[in-house]
Amino acid sequence: MKHILFIATGGTIASKKTENGLTPQIKPEEMLSYIPSVSDYCEITAIQPFNLDSTNVTPENWKAIVQIIKQNYFDFDGFVIAHGTDTMAYTAAALSYMVQNSSRPIVITGSQKPINLDVTDARTNLLDSFIYASANDSQGVQIVFDGKVIAGTRAKKVRSKSYNAFSSIDFPSLAVIQDRRIMRYISMLPYKDPVRFYENMNDNVFLLKLLPGIKPDLLSFIFDRYDAIIVESFGVGGIPVSIRDAFFALCKENPEKLIIMATQVAHEGSDMTVYEVGNTIKKMCNILESYDMTPEAVCAKAMWILANSTSADFYRPINYDTIWPNEN
Ligand code: ASP
Repeated sequence: MKHILFIATGGTIASKKTENGLTPQIKPEEMLSYIPSVSDYCEITAIQPFNLDSTNVTPENWKAIVQIIKQNYFDFDGFVIAHGTDTMAYTAAALSYMVQNSSRPIVITGSQKPINLDVTDARTNLLDSFIYASANDSQGVQIVFDGKVIAGTRAKKVRSKSYNAFSSIDFPSLAVIQDRRIMRYISMLPYKDPVRFYENMNDNVFLLKLLPGIKPDLLSFIFDRYDAIIVESFGVGGIPVSIRDAFFALCKENPEKLIIMATQVAHEGSDMTVYEVGNTIKKMCNILESYDMTPEAVCAKAMWILANSTSADFYRPINYDTIWPNEN
């Protein structure tokens, strides 16, 4: 029988009511007591490295999870992580970059309702996660939620209350789980390379969400303070004229910074070549694009890049002395 390590980290799934609202309090053993049939699928060892509302999860917590997986990797057949839904997509993306080529499945789950309620999605999500983590063909990092299996880099929380809280963005769900049966949509090829752990992330990353008429006042502080700046732009991506000159000047002054254009639009991603507002700045600055990656995955990947590479790896020489094409 498969042996799964259950890493309980908090979230609604582990929460109880207090006079100030829900807060994680339930121990992993109590959570498992609500899904007794899990013993048909696997043996479980449980630990609880922290018990947080995922609003309070930080890259340090991701590191703690990775260290637990690394230390226990060859003693278990798979890993199930219970986690709050609010930042689950960030954690799933981060773990995807921090634990690569994992032939042992790493499954992240949670719920919209606490596991101790009579009407809850928690028990199904948790049981499905152990079923998926115990199945022979499972591997890599994914979220199991509301019967869907979503690649760790593709998940987005799209509903704040309903059970179908997560979508897979611009990529099919890997599988669905119904009545305890897994139906795989994508068959995964075994990893050729051995598992690789990256324990460090550099969280000196700023996510700059644009809004119409945005003012340039804070830009120089952001460029000064952060090593990577992700611009969450409109549509396929561009820099509005209200901040354009300041943004360009700061890119020119800080060629070693990692600047990435992402989009506020959930589906279909960026393409800065389409409009003049994007095309010109892309030609004139050292700026990467997120394309169809989610902002959650872009943030996690930027933290991973900063911690595990040098600016030479993403630096593209630019002649910043050119002038705006429409202003000569
Ligand atoms: N605030 C909770 C959390 O992210 C929400 C949830 O788990 O659904 O921890």
